Amino acid sequence: PLPPVSVLGLGMMGGALAAALLRAGHPVTVWNRSAAKTGPLVAQGATPAGTVTDAVAASPLVIVCFTTNDDVTEALAGVDLTGRTLVNLTNGTPAQARDLAARAGKQGAAYIDGGIMAVPQMIATPAAYILYSGDERAYETHRPTLAALGGTRWTGTDPGRAALHDLSLLTGMYGMVIGVAQAFALIRTENVTATEFAEPLHAWVSAMLSGLIPEMATAVDSGQHLTDVSSLGINQAAFRNFLTTYDDQGVSPELFVPFQKLLDRSVEEGHAADGLSRLADLLKK
Ligand code: NDP
Repeated sequence: PLPPVSVLGLGMMGGALAAALLRAGHPVTVWNRSAAKTGPLVAQGATPAGTVTDAVAASPLVIVCFTTNDDVTEALAGVDLTGRTLVNLTNGTPAQARDLAARAGKQGAAYIDGGIMAVPQMIATPAAYILYSGDERAYETHRPTLAALGGTRWTGTDPGRAALHDLSLLTGMYGMVIGVAQAFALIRTENVTATEFAEPLHAWVSAMLSGLIPEMATAVDSGQHLTDVSSLGINQAAFRNFLTTYDDQGVSPELFVPFQKLLDRSVEEGHAADGLSRLADLLKK
């Protein structure tokens, strides 16, 4: 028989995690603050626990997925975690992960932090993976079980590493989201629908990104930012046209004003001949 797992937190994500473990054949104990959410999982074969303590006692592996890490600290305060491995898949900061690892250690548990690179519907599909960091021995022990949730990617023994990778990947995504939101807002000022514009926008952004990411990475790591493709000087001059057009067309420039400021600073500080990769260096405080 497969090892038992307890899942604390049955929101959209925690519910998907518990269901995937059940489908894989694990005995699963579930706990949720509002007990009603255990119903569908119990119908799928899970055992409900009345308290966090009961849920923790039921399995050597305890997976937690709450809204914030403050909720995790609160729910686990004073709970005996002796001999357990706590896998915290709640979104949080690297500092919070290190703090929770220290707390879990004092309460007797091995701690693994995780960042879920998927939406609930993707859990247990080949497209989903989870970043992990913290107690490596506990990770190796439980990796076959964690694999039921999606791909497993180890990032290091510093418990904060998974969150750092998670937030860095999501930063790239949010950067893309603000660009797409601004592009739709701008094109719709002239009665072009977002649906009509989606295909050319997707093609353009995809083509740009697939070249840009590896080229910028090479430049950032080597410190060789000089470019014969597109200089900061020319981008700085052109970007004024963007801000002016947003204004002319009645679109808020709020997301892009800071980008103009950074381009201005790059030129003021003497980097006009460098490529956009220089911006990654200039952002370092
Ligand atoms: P939901 O809002 O659906 O669920 C939140 C869960 O946290 C509920 O089970 C809720 O219990 C529980 N909770 C909140 N506060 C407390 C507390 N103080 N004590 C005990 N339980 C508490 O959110 P999601 O499931 O979508 O997200 C959960 C985590 O997963 C978040 O950190 C999120 O960032 C992360 N995540 C989510 C993704 C997604 O696409 N949904 C993708 C990747 C990561 P109750 O039912 O009683 O309110």
